[in-house]
Amino acid sequence: MDVRRRLSKPLCRPNKASAAACETLKAHKQQYLLVSSPKASDALPLPLYLTNGLFFTMFFTVMYFLLVRWREKIRNSTPLHVVTLSELAALASLIASVIYLLGFFGIGFVQSFLYRANQEGWDGEDESNEQYLLEEDSRRGVTTLGCSVPPPPVRRIASVVPEQPAKISNGVAEKPGPLIAPAGSEEDEEIISSVVAGKTPSYLLESKLGDCKRAASIRREALQRITGKSLEGLPLDGFDYESILGQCCELPVGYVQIPVGIAGPLLLNGCEYSVPMATTEGCLVASTNRGCKAIFASGGATSIVLRDGMTRAPVVRFGTAKRAAELKFFVEDPVNFETLAVAFNKSSRFARLQSIQCAIAGKNLYMRFSCGTGDAMGMNMISKGVQHVLDYLQTEYPDMDVLGISGNFCSDKKPAAVNWIEGRGKSVVCEAIIKEEVVKKVLKTEVASLVELNMLKNLTGSAMAGALGGFNAHASNIVSAVYIATGQDPAQNVESSHCITMMEAVNDGKDLHVSVTMPSIEVGTVGGGTQLASQSACLNLLGVKGANKDSPGTNARLLATIVAGAVLAGELSLMSAISAGQLVKSHMKYNRSSKNITQQAAS
Ligand code: ADP
Repeated sequence: MDVRRRLSKPLCRPNKASAAACETLKAHKQQYLLVSSPKASDALPLPLYLTNGLFFTMFFTVMYFLLVRWREKIRNSTPLHVVTLSELAALASLIASVIYLLGFFGIGFVQSFLYRANQEGWDGEDESNEQYLLEEDSRRGVTTLGCSVPPPPVRRIASVVPEQPAKISNGVAEKPGPLIAPAGSEEDEEIISSVVAGKTPSYLLESKLGDCKRAASIRREALQRITGKSLEGLPLDGFDYESILGQCCELPVGYVQIPVGIAGPLLLNGCEYSVPMATTEGCLVASTNRGCKAIFASGGATSIVLRDGMTRAPVVRFGTAKRAAELKFFVEDPVNFETLAVAFNKSSRFARLQSIQCAIAGKNLYMRFSCGTGDAMGMNMISKGVQHVLDYLQTEYPDMDVLGISGNFCSDKKPAAVNWIEGRGKSVVCEAIIKEEVVKKVLKTEVASLVELNMLKNLTGSAMAGALGGFNAHASNIVSAVYIATGQDPAQNVESSHCITMMEAVNDGKDLHVSVTMPSIEVGTVGGGTQLASQSACLNLLGVKGANKDSPGTNARLLATIVAGAVLAGELSLMSAISAGQLVKSHMKYNRSSKNITQQAAS
C-alpha cells in the first residue's frame, strides 16, 4: 500500500513564503539532478577537452571514411547494403560520436534519454512530497522544506579511515586533522586496542576505569577505529557523564545538541510561564509564541488536572477462564482493595494505589493498576508496587502464572484506546476565550473560519482518518519539544499527545472559545532525565524543578498544565495559519483585487 499522500493539485499555495519554498525545492531538485545525472562528458575517464577532442576526431574521421566508401561503391556499382566489417565499425563509431556530441551540446531528448533512470526516483514523488509538506505545515515562514530534498547519492564507499574534511580558517583550507586522535596516554591506547580487538567489553569501561568521561572517550575512539567512520561533529566534551551512569544512557560516546527556544509568557491560571522547547523544527517555537501572545492578550488560559494516576497492567494466566474470572472478582471487590493497597503502597512513600481495572481474554487476566506517583512520572514506582501485589496474590492464588509485569493493557508508548478513554498520567483540560480583535490582529484570521476549520479538520477529518486521540492539529509538536527540554521520556509522546481540540464561537459569535483536552500527559519532575543539568535548568525556569516538599505531586501536575497550555497556544497558531491560507484562496476565488489579497497574505 502506498502510504504517501499524493495530491494532484497545484504545487504551491499562492503566498510568498510557499512560492519561495517551492523555488527552493525546485532549485534543490535541479541541483540534485545535475549532481546525480550522468553527463555526456562522463563517457570516458579523461579530462573534458580530451574527451571532446576524441569524439570530434572520431566523428569527422569515420564520416570521411564512410563518404569515401560510399563514393567507391557508387563508382563500382556495389550495392550500398553490402557492408564490410570496417564499415560496420565506422557506422557504430559514427552513432556513438553523434550521441555524445548531441548530449554534450545539451540536446534535450538525448539528455532525457541519458538520465531517465535517475529521474524515476523523483517521478510521482517529488511533486506530491512538496505539496504534502506545504499542505501539512502551511505556517508562514516554515523552514522544514529542505528535509524533503534527498541528499545527493554517496558515490564512493568510505575507506577504512575516511578523509577528514578540510577546515576553512580565514579563507585558507587547513590540513585535515587525523581521524584517529592520538590517545591520551599509552595506557588509554592499550585499552582502545583491547576494545577494538574485542578483549575488553565496551560496556565494562565505566566500572573498570572509574571515570565516566574517560570511558566515553575511549569507547568513542574504539568505535571510530572499528567502523572507520568519523564521529567529528558529535561533541564529547562539556557533558557530565557521571550524571547519566546507571540512570539515563548506557555506552555513551558523546551527546546530541538540540537548540532550546522559549515561547511565552504563557499566562495560565493567573501565572506567567516561559516555556522551553527543544526542537530542530523551524517555526515551531515562533508559532507557539504567537499563540501565547493571543492567549495573553485575551486574559490568559485556565488549565485543570482532571485525574492523576500512572498505570501498569501485568498479565497473568490460569488453567481455566473460570479461575481468571475468580481473581478478577477478588481484585475488583472493594472489600479487598484495602489489603491490596497496603501491599502496593509499601513500595514507596509516594506510591498510592487508586484502582485496579481488569480485562479478561480467555484464561488470561490483565489487571490495570492505577496509582498516584508524587512528582515522579512513575513507571518505576508503579512497577515496584505491582510486583508487591503480585507477590501477595501468588500466595492466595498459587495456580496463577505471572507472564509479564507489563501486559500492554497499561498501555505505555503505544497508541491505545484505553489511554484515550481512561487516561494515563495526568488528564488535563485547558481553555481560553480569545477575543475577536485578538483573533483578527494577532492570529490574522476570523472566529468563524477557525470554528469551521476545526470542525472539518480536527474533528471530521480525524474521524475520517480513523484517528485515535489525534483530534488536533499538531499537539505532538509541542509535547515533544517541551518533553525533550524538560527531561521527560520523549517516547511517551505517543499517548501524551492524545488531544481533542474544540473551538466554538461565543459571546454572540464574536469571540472564540478554544480548549484542548489531553487525557494522558505523562510527566515528572524527579527521576529519569529530569535530574540532568540542562533539563533541570528548564524545569527550574518553569518553577517545577525537583520534588515538591510541601505537597508531593504538585510540581508534576503543574508541569502537565503547562504542557496543555503550550499545546493550546500551538493549536491556536497553526489553525490560524491554515485558516488564513484558506482566506487568501477564497478571496482569490471571489475575485478580490490582488492588492487586498497580498495585504492579507502578508499581514
Ligand atoms: P519513575 O518512577 O518516574 O521512573 P524514579 O523511580 O526514577 O521515577 O524516581 C522516583 C524517585 O524519586 C523515587 O525513588 C522516589 O522515592 C523519589 N522521590 C523523591 N521525592 C519525590 C516526590 N515528591 N515524588 C515522587 N518521587 C519522589
